[in-house]
Amino acid sequence: MQMFDMLHLFFSITPMTADICIPRPKQDMNLSLQELYDLPEDEVIARIHDLRTELGDNLLILGHHYQREEVIGFADITGDSLKLAQEAAKTKAPYIIFCGVHFMAEMADVLTSDSQTVILPDPAAGCSMADMANDEQVQRCWGELFQVINADEEVTPVTYINSTAALKAFCGEHDGIVCTSGNAKRVLTWAWNKREKILFFPDQHLGENTALTMGITDEDMIIWDPFKPMGGNSEADIKRAKLILWKGFCSVHQLFKPEHATTMRHNHPDIQILAHPECSREVCETSDFVGSTEMIIKHVAAAAAGSKFAIATELNLVNRLRINHPEHQIWFLSPTVSMCSTMFRTDPPHLCWAMQEILGDKQYHQVAVPASQQNMALVSLNNMLNLG
Ligand code: SF4
Repeated sequence: MQMFDMLHLFFSITPMTADICIPRPKQDMNLSLQELYDLPEDEVIARIHDLRTELGDNLLILGHHYQREEVIGFADITGDSLKLAQEAAKTKAPYIIFCGVHFMAEMADVLTSDSQTVILPDPAAGCSMADMANDEQVQRCWGELFQVINADEEVTPVTYINSTAALKAFCGEHDGIVCTSGNAKRVLTWAWNKREKILFFPDQHLGENTALTMGITDEDMIIWDPFKPMGGNSEADIKRAKLILWKGFCSVHQLFKPEHATTMRHNHPDIQILAHPECSREVCETSDFVGSTEMIIKHVAAAAAGSKFAIATELNLVNRLRINHPEHQIWFLSPTVSMCSTMFRTDPPHLCWAMQEILGDKQYHQVAVPASQQNMALVSLNNMLNLG
């Protein structure tokens, strides 16, 4: 690099946000992703530390529980997707790097102010479950329901937070609501108080497992397969159903099987099986405790020393629980590895690459939800947040 270019880099101001002044880095930080991969890992880590110092309060790094150790160590806040988006909204940091997946970054963009830019380190980090219901499919489903019932009067749409902003906006437009794995029961109660039927997407299992704890029977539930006419249901099925469950699932949590719990109990009769409600009904029914990621973390933390747990949720979280709680014995429920491959896409080179971007003049990674979608997504999110 020529001396003039170096001086120019050092003294110039980032063009990304006009009213925020971030000095350019003192060294060449504009390496390509490939160049970052070609560096030894400790050099990438050192560069992240340098960038972190350089960016100071202008940057907030969020780390979802399922992120790998090398990344979560850089997070200013760790948590589930809703907590992270809400915490980001409480700050004034102009740049937010969300180490998570796409729908999470979208939600952070919806909840934060217009002067904050949300960045996803790897734009390809999606969520296979969120991808199982898109706006077009849900609109088609709504239209098909209308052929049998008056959907606007009879159905409350409920979307799991693991969904696109477009689907949250759909729920906002149709007087529906968002739910998390921690508040699904309260949300379903709210939704049934409004109308007699619920259309729940995209995760069949969270809807089914929650409804079963509320006394809803198999007779009351139908599955909606988006690839079949009328979701694969008869008119009588649709008229009868109280709960219409979208045929979607988490590719990680579906790998746990009830026989894994059987084996664990055989080997350790005093073990407790903990499962996330995205697991199948059969796994949840055989578990001692079913709860969201945050609930599982709290359950383990509150247990008497010497407790034994086998946990059915994402591997990185289970490994972290094992590290943080040496007083317990903790196993991953499945004998095979099941980690979220899209969460795993965020590694130190991607984090470094995204941080460079804030100081550079390229915008590969910003996640921005269109204003009209933001407004309607906020309606369904606020319906949930108002439940407390
Ligand atoms: S663990 Fe499952 S639901 Fe969560 S981001 Fe990965 S694929 Fe999506």
